[in-house]
Amino acid sequence: MEIYRLLENREKIRSTRQKDDDAETRHNVTELTLYRLQQLGLIDGYTMSYEGSLKNVVFEAEYNQNWTAAEVIGNLKNFLIRYNASMDYINEVVSRLQDTPVSSQDSDVRGEHFVSEAVKILLEHIYNTIPKMRYQMLENERLYAKSQKCRRIILRSIFDNVERAISDNYRCEFCDVCEPTLRFPHNRAEVPLYEIELDEIARQLPKMLESFDINKLRSAAKKIIDKQAVTGIFAQVTFYLEQRYNNPAALYLAGVLSKHRNERAEALRYLRDGFELANQWRLKLDSIKQFYLEAATLDANEAFSWLLHADSFLRSSEGCEFLLEEAFRIFGEESLEYQNLTALWMLQKYNKSIKIHEDILQRVNRFKTLKVRLCQVQMT
Ligand SMILES: [Zn+2]
Repeated sequence: MEIYRLLENREKIRSTRQKDDDAETRHNVTELTLYRLQQLGLIDGYTMSYEGSLKNVVFEAEYNQNWTAAEVIGNLKNFLIRYNASMDYINEVVSRLQDTPVSSQDSDVRGEHFVSEAVKILLEHIYNTIPKMRYQMLENERLYAKSQKCRRIILRSIFDNVERAISDNYRCEFCDVCEPTLRFPHNRAEVPLYEIELDEIARQLPKMLESFDINKLRSAAKKIIDKQAVTGIFAQVTFYLEQRYNNPAALYLAGVLSKHRNERAEALRYLRDGFELANQWRLKLDSIKQFYLEAATLDANEAFSWLLHADSFLRSSEGCEFLLEEAFRIFGEESLEYQNLTALWMLQKYNKSIKIHEDILQRVNRFKTLKVRLCQVQMT
């Protein structure tokens, strides 16, 4: 906010590197701050110049001094939409900002409190999303590096003809996987054979990712696996996640296909993130359940713990019934999980207060941890 105050007071922004600073760090932080203010439309641009030595940088920002709350809110909203935030979340933060006055008595700098709130929302979303995208980027590189399948399946699926699906059995005979000796028998890659049914899935993929239809996704995943086109389609889906991580449809497909590829930990990550997102976006209970059911076959305890934190299940009687069935199936009728959930369900049926409901939930969690610890003790 120091930089915003300088802008509002029409003062120069100086950044001077101190003795113990890492090279450039201080200048980078100033520049990043200006960039965030630009994303909110408070400045139109900036230039930087050195003053005397490389230690001292002066930033000249084109400050949009007549900014209005509506403009800043509009820019923030566009940013959140672009990064796939849920509409519920966007509406909530927009109404919070609309209730924040631009001039407040707490500060003599116009808009200081308002801008600080807007920046907080911007950063919160960035730090919730960007690290996941960066992780995905690294994960995709790892997958490419360790792939035992022909390199061209991944490369062509992402960069070449994205409307066609390449079979897992394709061998170009012209890459280091197909020919590890690098003594290639031909001077060009073999042309892949395509199948109409698989091409249809590849063509439908972008549309499938933009909406969320669990039945379509399930049948597509089944077809991709049955027809052996996992490598290429999986590469397309994970490449999409690298750029737009907040997408339940892409996370579902990535989870199911990852499971098929025996990448257990990664499959759980996709399904968990997808489950959380589906819950936040308030998708239908049946859709959210599918993330859980896929994950439960990998790690029933972990998947069950997601249910205990999901509003969609706890706040509806249909969801609670499902929880109860699952507690019975996984832990058994005598388990504390099952018994406590039965009590919770009864209370909800009789419409008791949320407070008691949450107390019981806490007890369920406590017992669950206790049980895990007891099991560990018994095993050692
Ligand atoms: Zn090859």
